[in-house]
Amino acid sequence: MFLEKDRNNSQRVGWIEVICGSMFSGKTEELIRRLNRARIAKQKVEIFKPAIETRFDEQNVVSHDANSVTSTVVENGSQILFYAEDFEVVGIDEAQFFGEELLSVCNDLANSGKRVIVAGLDMDFRGKSFGPIPLLMATAEYVTKVHAICIRCGNLANYSHRTVKNDKLVVLGEIETYEPLCRRCFNDALMEGKENS
Ligand code: ZN
Repeated sequence: MFLEKDRNNSQRVGWIEVICGSMFSGKTEELIRRLNRARIAKQKVEIFKPAIETRFDEQNVVSHDANSVTSTVVENGSQILFYAEDFEVVGIDEAQFFGEELLSVCNDLANSGKRVIVAGLDMDFRGKSFGPIPLLMATAEYVTKVHAICIRCGNLANYSHRTVKNDKLVVLGEIETYEPLCRRCFNDALMEGKENS
């Protein structure tokens, strides 16, 4: 899957790939893996992330296995269009934090012949669809859903359960703030939360 297309093809055709899943599911690792392969294929690669995402490191997209790639921090999707001009492969990490304008940004990039790889959370901590990701999933040529492991029972996890009480949509943080749970354990955790409040 995701064979790097023949660059000698006279007509440059772009497309969109989405890598989605819960926290701790390896989205960024998969994004970096694909970008590294494109780089080996001598393609011009750039990665963008939203200014809101500042955990660990300001400049680098840092995955949990510390396999980092330098990135450009942008304030909004329009800036991606501006900075992506000279690149053939455009990676976007933590894409859920961009607004719904990201859909048209990604379409514009793909329409101009670029390969666009978007990684982001598909659901927020309540289990509701997150920002532009569902729109991108509908529009993308390729969608990959990666899973974490439920820390309560060991099944595949697709929910990011928040372990601290806070109703804000965006609470940055990692291990101390979220835990990956499967459907059953997530529902149990929601029930426990209701009983405790
Ligand atoms: Zn579970």
